[in-house]
Amino acid sequence: MPQLKQTEQTASFQVTATAGDARAGTLTINGQSLDTPTFFPVLSFYGGGTKSSVFGGGVHRTIKEFMLGKEEIGGGTYDKYFRGTMTSVASLTDYGINQERFNDYTSDRIKDRETFSDYNGLIFVDSGGYKFLHNNGLDGSDFEIEIDQREAFRIQKQLGGDIIVNLDRPIAPNDTFDERQQKAERTAENAVEFARLTQTYPGARYLTVHGYNYSMLDRFFDHIQSQFGNIDISTLFDGIALGSLVPKKDDKAALITAVMDCVEIMEERGLADLPLHVLGIGSGSIPLLVAAGADTFDSTTYIQNAINQKYAVSLTKHIPLDAVDFNQCDCAVCSDPKLVNWMQGNTEYQKDVLGPVAMHNLIIHRQEVRELRQRIKQHGTDPVIDYLDETVGRNDSIRKQTHRVVNEALGGYF
Ligand SMILES: [Zn+2]
Repeated sequence: MPQLKQTEQTASFQVTATAGDARAGTLTINGQSLDTPTFFPVLSFYGGGTKSSVFGGGVHRTIKEFMLGKEEIGGGTYDKYFRGTMTSVASLTDYGINQERFNDYTSDRIKDRETFSDYNGLIFVDSGGYKFLHNNGLDGSDFEIEIDQREAFRIQKQLGGDIIVNLDRPIAPNDTFDERQQKAERTAENAVEFARLTQTYPGARYLTVHGYNYSMLDRFFDHIQSQFGNIDISTLFDGIALGSLVPKKDDKAALITAVMDCVEIMEERGLADLPLHVLGIGSGSIPLLVAAGADTFDSTTYIQNAINQKYAVSLTKHIPLDAVDFNQCDCAVCSDPKLVNWMQGNTEYQKDVLGPVAMHNLIIHRQEVRELRQRIKQHGTDPVIDYLDETVGRNDSIRKQTHRVVNEALGGYF
């Protein structure tokens, strides 16, 4: 294997405060900083559309109009909610586009396009491994592209990802032991190729890891390490991305175990200084996983809930859209009479009813995560424990897991 060496550093992560295992920090990539813990909203930059439709995508289109402060939504300033966004190579052909359009989408960096030129947040581009596991590649209306590590990276680079990950092979709950071993080996091989391909890449490179508990994750890291020989992987990657948890998203106990065990293994293997991103998890799990030591998250739940006419009143509680009293929320969306009118159904397109709901849901996400960040920065663990007790701990189905996190990750109640 050719020598892999650390090149010019484009990414750094500084932990500035801790409360038990929870940590607050600053992630800096190419001179742009994000305070952590933080949430990356999932966004489809190219929803099958054209430049004039802000590249389409239904509710995603309205979200992009918020992100860009467009006249269509009243031109408010929402950019602070989009300092980091997540998109996936796999989403490019979600709308059945033709090859010509695909070539256009991948011809320039997202931020180099006139449409998105006002956007200056960090873009995390996932490899799409979870999707390519089932169908081997990108499937358009008149073309197919097989995705391997080289092709996944080529597309991530073309889109101008500030954070990119290796092409991974996520595990599934009913995989056999042998299947998990094979997937770990494939992912480890890809990780080596990814490290080689991205040596001069001007962005952050994250390593994906998969497993539900200590023994699975430890074995996964063994596969990775054996592929890299005696190279210290902490010098090659700027972060760890924990995947395969989406099928477990409603099982809080499983999520907490996965994150706590991953944190422990990262410590044992000298990777504790890297940020830990949890792929595909949002909403009510975030406070518990922050307490367990996770730093960043991404999810589509803010949009999915809006599509299901669900309006967030907190990370754990949503109410039906037709039962909302918009006076109860002072966010920029609910304070705008035009947008409230839209959310009440008085607009032509469904995307304009649900887009502002999604934006409100995103604001709730971001506000709660900011509150957690501030609590971590206060003295001791009590502010974080109080937050958990006052929020997720109020929910009967999560109370037991809240107590577990307080006892195991925050040093207990007293
Ligand atoms: Zn609101």
